[in-house]
Parts: sequence; structure tokens; C-alpha cells
Amino acid sequence: MTLSADLWTRSLWYETAEEPDPGSDAPQDARVLVIGGGFTGLSTALHLAERGVAVTLIEAEKIGFGASGRNGGQVIPGLKIDAPEMRARWGREAGGRLAAFAGEAADRVFDLVDRHGIACAPVRNGWIQCAHSELALRAVHARARDWQAEGAPVEILDAGAIATATGTGAYTGGWRDLRAGTVNPLAYVRGLARAARAAGACIVTGRRVTGIARDGAGWRLELGGAQVRGETVVLATNAYDAALMPRFARSILPVQSCVLATEPLPAETAATILPQGACASEVRKLAYYYRISADGRLVFGGRGATGAEHSQGLQAALEAGMRRLFPQIGAARVEKAWSGHLALTLDHLPHIHHAGQGLWAVAGYNGRGVALATAMGAALAGHLAEGEPLPLPETPVRPIFWHALRHPVMDLGVRYYWLKDRLGFAS
Ligand SMILES: Cc1cc2nc3c(=O)[nH]c(=O)nc-3n(C[C@H](O)[C@H](O)[C@H](O)COP(=O)(O)OP(=O)(O)OC[C@H]3O[C@@H](n4cnc5c(N)ncnc54)[C@H](O)[C@@H]3O)c2cc1C
Repeated sequence: MTLSADLWTRSLWYETAEEPDPGSDAPQDARVLVIGGGFTGLSTALHLAERGVAVTLIEAEKIGFGASGRNGGQVIPGLKIDAPEMRARWGREAGGRLAAFAGEAADRVFDLVDRHGIACAPVRNGWIQCAHSELALRAVHARARDWQAEGAPVEILDAGAIATATGTGAYTGGWRDLRAGTVNPLAYVRGLARAARAAGACIVTGRRVTGIARDGAGWRLELGGAQVRGETVVLATNAYDAALMPRFARSILPVQSCVLATEPLPAETAATILPQGACASEVRKLAYYYRISADGRLVFGGRGATGAEHSQGLQAALEAGMRRLFPQIGAARVEKAWSGHLALTLDHLPHIHHAGQGLWAVAGYNGRGVALATAMGAALAGHLAEGEPLPLPETPVRPIFWHALRHPVMDLGVRYYWLKDRLGFAS
């Protein structure tokens, strides 16, 4: 049995990250204690430290051990819902603020990379969303027009244009969002840790938080033999903890996504796939996402298992899908395969919870966390430090009543989504 956690050192990002692992500081009391060393936690810590707030971040393993160090590295702005729906749901002002927050999320990442000189192979040539049917095409073109109306630099692609832009004739069309791009995600998250420490944050790794308890007017975290105290706690563990706040863990659905990287392709083959240097993902529910890495490999991701174990069967199905979509790669070997856990929410939105008395939890980027979690951390820091408005309203924690049965329910859901995809619906 191979657990997803066991594959940590097998990813392409682990092998190629130029930013070194930042190591650990000794635990210190601080005004804000952040649990989790991914994009959410580190962006929160960095932006708090830059505002002069004393902050300690505690990561159970290494920086980027969770989804942040293992994802596809696609830096995509926006949420799963579009600007008109945001305004319809939350009104002109709050909906408009959310649309701006989501639309600027990729800018945040690339600004941080520039500002802190993070060596994460940043490329900003856009993201293509590919439609697999006429029905899906209408949906993605409507989305592209919505973003055009917001003034975003996007292009609408017909079947011919998307075949040229992706290197496969599998799609009916799509759109390209030029605000997006790619990074080596592990290098990026390590760079955030370096920048946070330079700004004054205490970064503790290899210490698992085993308990959160009230301590006078503040909080105490148990670190297995040690303790740290603070006024405010931010739980930024996303799909990687079920024990600290069990009700919160039951309000999100942890699922795996699996990623493959081929051996470096011959230059003339690599040049046929995403020749403009964009990254891509499909609008189907059971979607593939892909890009070419800095060293010319096809990096190809898709659905993984719902449990903790890495699924060899789904890995094989992913590889077959990759070869169907890009037959030009021939017999190129898959050299790397890994997976990680992300968090889904039933409303497809990230959730911000304030359990009261300074205990916060943020999670649920639904596979879009590189840009969004970075932006969320910055926004939460602004709120904690200076009371700035949050991009989304806080929501009460709502445990999913069938959470204990999530594996069979999600397996059924996969069949349902497979059918919807076959019928041409967009996600
Ligand atoms: C395979 C894969 C591909 C993806 N591809 C993309 C993509 O291309 N683009 C995109 O935008 N998004 C993508 N995502 C989603 C994105 O990676 C996540 O949304 C994002 O990384 C979430 O960041 P986070 O900081 O909230 O959580 P995580 O990065 O998961 O961090 C949580 C951290 O908490 C730590 N932790 C847990 N419990 C404790 C504890 N008790 N004490 C201390 N520390 C603890 C964990 O070790 C972990 O490091 C992908 C996800 C996966 C898994």
C-alpha cells in the first residue's frame, strides 16, 4: 500500500525546486499562531509579519508537505463561480469586492514572486480552459465574456484556435486567461516561508499541533511536549487534518488528485503541446489539467483516490488519458507520479470560519488554491491586523451529514459526473 504522504519526495517539484527547505525555528509565543505550512498559512504569516504582527507558524512535516508542494502549479485567478453570480448573491459592493479579489489572485502570486525574488520558475503565459462539447463551450465562452466585461485580458478560442493552442484536437473550443501562469509550487511555498521569516515570522516545522485549548484570554497549542501561546489561532490545514477541529474537518471533503510527469520530451514534440507556454485544464467535472515543465516534460494531472492511499489504478487510467489526448508523445516514459489531498466544499467556494474568541479556520479552494489561498492569506492578515473587510462572508461550520459515508457517496458521485461529462455538461 502506498500512501499519498509517502510520495512526498517523488514529485517533480521536489526534485527541481531551487528554493531550499527553510528548516525550523524554535517555537515562540506570538500574537497570532498559524497551523499549517501551505499557501494559506504562509501567506497569512508573511502578510501579518509585514504588518508588524508577531506570528508563529507551525507545520507538522516540512513546508509544502500538503497540497501546496505537490499540485499542478497552475496559478489561476477566479473562483468556480463568475462575477455576475457573485454580485447577484452578495450585492453590488460585496460581490464586486469578491470579483476583484478573485480576479487579482494570480497577480498576488506573481507580485510576491517578484518582490521576494522567489526562484520558482514563474511563467505567465495564461491558462486555457478547454470545452469538451458544444454545451460546455457555451458555458466557457459566457465566462470569458463575463471576464472581458470586467476588463480582464482574456481571449475566446474556437475549435481551430484551441487545437493550435493546446496541441490536441479533442476540444470544441475554450478561452485563455492571460492573467494566469505557472510556478514550481514547492519552490514557491518555500520562498513564501523564507520571505515570512525575513519579515519576522517564526517558522516551526516538524512539530504537529496535537491540541488547541483556551488559555486565559488567548489560546495554547500543544506541540507534543511543548506549548505555544497566542491571542489568535488560524487553522490552515485544509485537507490534511481531521483531529484538531473535527466539526470543521467534516465540513469539507478531502479528495486526492494525481499528477504524472513524463521524461523530458524531444524539443520538437514538446513544442507541439501548449506552444504558447500556457497551462490548461478542462471544464469537465472529471477534468485533466496539464502544462509543459521548465525542462520539457508533460506534467499531467487528474482525479485521484478519495482515501489516503495512492491509487495505482487511477494513476494508470490517468496515463491512458494522457496518451489518448497527446499521442504525439509516443512511448515517452512516465518518470514521476505522485498525489496529494485537496478540499472540496459543497458550494464550491472557499470557507472562512470564525469559531469565536480569535479561533479562525480557512479551507476549501476546490482545486484552485495556488492563487486563491495566497490571496486568502493576504486578506485574512489584513483583517486580523487592521480589521479590513474579508473577501467572502464568514460562514458557520456546517458538517456534511453524510461525511462518514463520503467514500461510497463520492464513488457514486464520480459515476454521476462521468455521465454528465459524457452528456457534455460543463462543471
Ligand atoms: C495534486 C494536486 C494538484 C493541484 N493542482 C492545482 C493547480 O494546478 N492549481 C491550483 O490553483 N490548485 C491546485 N491544487 C489545489 C491547491 O494545491 C490547494 O488548494 C492549496 O495548496 C491549499 O493550500 P493550503 O495551504 O490551504 O493547504 P495545504 O497546502 O494542504 O497545507 C496544509 C498543511 O497543514 C499541515 N498540517 C496538517 N495538520 C497539522 C497539524 N496538526 N499541525 C501542524 N501542521 C499540520 C500539513 O502537513 C500541510 O502541510 C491541487 C491540489 C492537489 C492535491
